[in-house]
Amino acid sequence: MRPVHRFRVYPNPGTPWRFEVLIFESQASMYKYAASKWGYTATDYHAICLSTSTSESKGRKLGEVLFTLRGVTHGLIGHELIHASHHFLQTRCGKDAVVINSCGGSHTTEEIVAHAASSMINQCTAEFAKRGVQIV
Ligand SMILES: [Zn+2]
Repeated sequence: MRPVHRFRVYPNPGTPWRFEVLIFESQASMYKYAASKWGYTATDYHAICLSTSTSESKGRKLGEVLFTLRGVTHGLIGHELIHASHHFLQTRCGKDAVVINSCGGSHTTEEIVAHAASSMINQCTAEFAKRGVQIV
């Protein structure tokens, strides 16, 4: 259940605000961790962004972003970090800064934005690779 990799990312480099990125051996170990540490019980995601409430963010740790060793795409990373970015915005600017009204089915606006961005990131990175353009 322990991550095999762990590092920090900063939404505003130079400030202490941060998310921790944890990479697990398998989805099973990621789900087990998410359930025991965060009480998160869904088991149908390839990656998970878990955010602390605004009042718990005093230590400047905004949350954790969980991945596994397999199946990670640029788009998936982008998707989860868009969720993380929205949480950072809410923490810094208040809940009203981000519109999270339902917008069709069970999807929030944030979810639709994250899906759209991840799709386009995957398309872009595939085109870059096809054309031999290196992403650094
Ligand atoms: Zn999402």
